[in-house]
Amino acid sequence: MFFLVWGFKVRFKTVLQGAFFCPTCGGDRPFEQKQGRRWFTLFWIPVIPLKEVGEQFVECSTCRQAYKTSVLQLPTSANLSNDLTVATREATTWLLRSAPTVTPAARRHALDMLSGAASRPWSDAELDHDLGTLTVDGLPGRLTTLASVLNEHGRETFFSGCVRVAAANGSVGAAEQALLDSIASSLGMSPAHARGVIAQTLEQAAARAPGEAPGQAPGQAWPQ
Ligand SMILES: [Zn+2]
Repeated sequence: MFFLVWGFKVRFKTVLQGAFFCPTCGGDRPFEQKQGRRWFTLFWIPVIPLKEVGEQFVECSTCRQAYKTSVLQLPTSANLSNDLTVATREATTWLLRSAPTVTPAARRHALDMLSGAASRPWSDAELDHDLGTLTVDGLPGRLTTLASVLNEHGRETFFSGCVRVAAANGSVGAAEQALLDSIASSLGMSPAHARGVIAQTLEQAAARAPGEAPGQAPGQAWPQ
C-alpha cells in the first residue's frame, strides 16, 4: 500500500550569529538571528521552501529568550567598557594638552581615572604615548553616545574625574574650563549641573589637599 504523505512545516534558519547584551541574562551572550520559512514536506521531509513566515528575531543562546532585532542596537558590556576607556583616554589627553604645564598631580589624577575606566593599572608610558599621538576629535561624539547609555551617576563620575585632572594644578584655567564645558555639554549635562559637579569636586579636592595622599582619602567615596 502506498500513501503519498505531504504537508507543511515551519523551519527556522539562522541568518546571523554574534554577541549581544541579553536583557534577560543581564550580560553579554551569544545570539542567533533567525528567520522562519514555511516548507512543503513529503513524507515529513521538507522538500520545497515556500514563503518566509514572520519577522526575523533574535534568540539568546543561553536563556533562549526571543527578541525583536532592535535588541542588537543595545551596546554590549564589552563595547561600553571599551568606549568608556577610549573616551577617558581622549578626555585626559585633551585636558593635559590644554594645561600650561602637566604637573605630577594632574598626571596622577589622569592615571587614576584611566585605571578606573580600564579596570587595570594604566602606565605612565601609555599616558605619554596618548599625549604624543592620540587624536581627540572623536570625543564629543563618543561622549554623546555614552551619555545615552550611562545613568546620571555614570556621567557625573566621568565628569568629576575630568574636573580633578583639570584642577590638579590648583585652579581651572580658561582653556580647561572651556574643555570642561564642552565635555559636560556632550554628556548632556546642563551648565548648572556641571557647575554643581565642579564645585563639589573642587571642595572634595580641597578637603583632601593636606598631605595629598594618593588614592583614597579616608571616609571618602571617590568614584572610580
Ligand atoms: Zn539570555
